[in-house]
Amino acid sequence: MDPVTIPAEADTRLVGQLRAAGLRVTPQRLALHRILAQSHRHVTAEGLLREASSELPGLALPTVYSTLELFADLGVVRRVAAPGAARYDTDPSPHDHFTCSRCGALIDLDTSASRAAARKAAEAGGHRVDSATVVVSGHCATCLAPA
Ligand SMILES: [Zn+2]
Ligand SMILES: [Zn+2]
Repeated sequence: MDPVTIPAEADTRLVGQLRAAGLRVTPQRLALHRILAQSHRHVTAEGLLREASSELPGLALPTVYSTLELFADLGVVRRVAAPGAARYDTDPSPHDHFTCSRCGALIDLDTSASRAAARKAAEAGGHRVDSATVVVSGHCATCLAPA
């Protein structure tokens, strides 16, 4: 986890990645990326639209969604397999998640050992592994805590 990313540095990195992929550098892409780079979290397109609405008043949900998909393809964010709305992790490095079926919370887990086991099990079945993630689901500690 990398809590503080200097925005200018984030801009430079994104510009390089967009140009390398032959994509246009737009003010919207830069602004959304800067918002994402502020902290490690798991965003939905709706959530990012809310965060960005003061800075980008004319922004529409489909644009946010396609920008997040673009960033996921570039490896800037990572799509997280979780029930419900598509989530994007601002930390693209491999790590696993716990999902709460009641409140929808998505919580990071340190499970590199089980990820290696899942990978090995797939390879033992003759499959070629491109990536491995472990998603644990249930009720989160907040939901279980007495009110
Ligand atoms: Zn919960
Ligand atoms: Zn995460």
